[in-house]
Amino acid sequence: MLKGKTALVTGSTSGIGLGIAKALAAQGANIVVNGFGDAEGPKAEIAALGVKVAYHGADMSKAGEIEDMMKFSAAQFGRVDILVNNAGIQHVARIEDFPAERWDAILAINLTSAFHTTRLALPAMRAANWGRIINVASVHGLVASAEKSAYVAAKHGIVGLTKVTALENATTGVTCNAICPGWVLTPLVQKQVDAKAAALKISNEEAKKVLLGEKEPSMQFTTPEELGGLAVFFCSPAANNVRGVAWNMDGGWVAQ
Ligand code: NAD
Repeated sequence: MLKGKTALVTGSTSGIGLGIAKALAAQGANIVVNGFGDAEGPKAEIAALGVKVAYHGADMSKAGEIEDMMKFSAAQFGRVDILVNNAGIQHVARIEDFPAERWDAILAINLTSAFHTTRLALPAMRAANWGRIINVASVHGLVASAEKSAYVAAKHGIVGLTKVTALENATTGVTCNAICPGWVLTPLVQKQVDAKAAALKISNEEAKKVLLGEKEPSMQFTTPEELGGLAVFFCSPAANNVRGVAWNMDGGWVAQ
């Protein structure tokens, strides 16, 4: 379905981004991988699906590096048809204890980076009259949890940015939508499982159940593969008129 298209997925060396990159590659899209840590393993996993893969290590908190990544992607594959704004970090603390530097980093990586990639990707998408922008928000783009001020503010912000992007392009072939996962067992959440296990002096497995039990009625983690399936749907012709939605995949978290 996506043969000949190019997808740039920020933060795709790990977790949800890698799951979405693989789902898009399985549909034939060439992939630009971005993120920290080992890139060779993720690149090989994606290339095994029979598509072309390139890597750019831009730091999503730096506008200049983001501009460089967008130029690199166009030079590699012509243009970015599918932009997945996924890179994100978390920090958990009460507001009065929240380090100002962590606030700035979360807002830069989880929100401002998507403004930069979007503004730089739109002209070529508009010229081709086809494009898909998918913002990986969170249930925390729709509801709040204590001790996650920066994350909740950034995720509510990206849901807003999604709606504006969708509206500004509503009469074109460019759509923008957000995905709002509940708990997904990636390194980002494993840190919260570890903190819970240490605080309550319980095992890793018990801590996972406590975390799920607090928020997610299904008592199941959403998987990167399931989220990849939703991203593929947003890229399909059936989603041509799906514009500006924030679609939660959260085991019932937000239904409560
Ligand atoms: P993860 O830690 O597994 O992956 C994060 C990715 O972002 C990695 O590739 C990392 O290298 C990259 N990254 C981090 N800082 C970066 C920077 N400055 N520049 C470039 N890349 C950077 O986390 P994940 O759980 O897969 O999270 C991916 C997205 O999904 C995030 O936006 C997160 O907020 C969101 N999300 C996660 C969950 C969950 O339960 N795991 C739930 C809802 C939303």
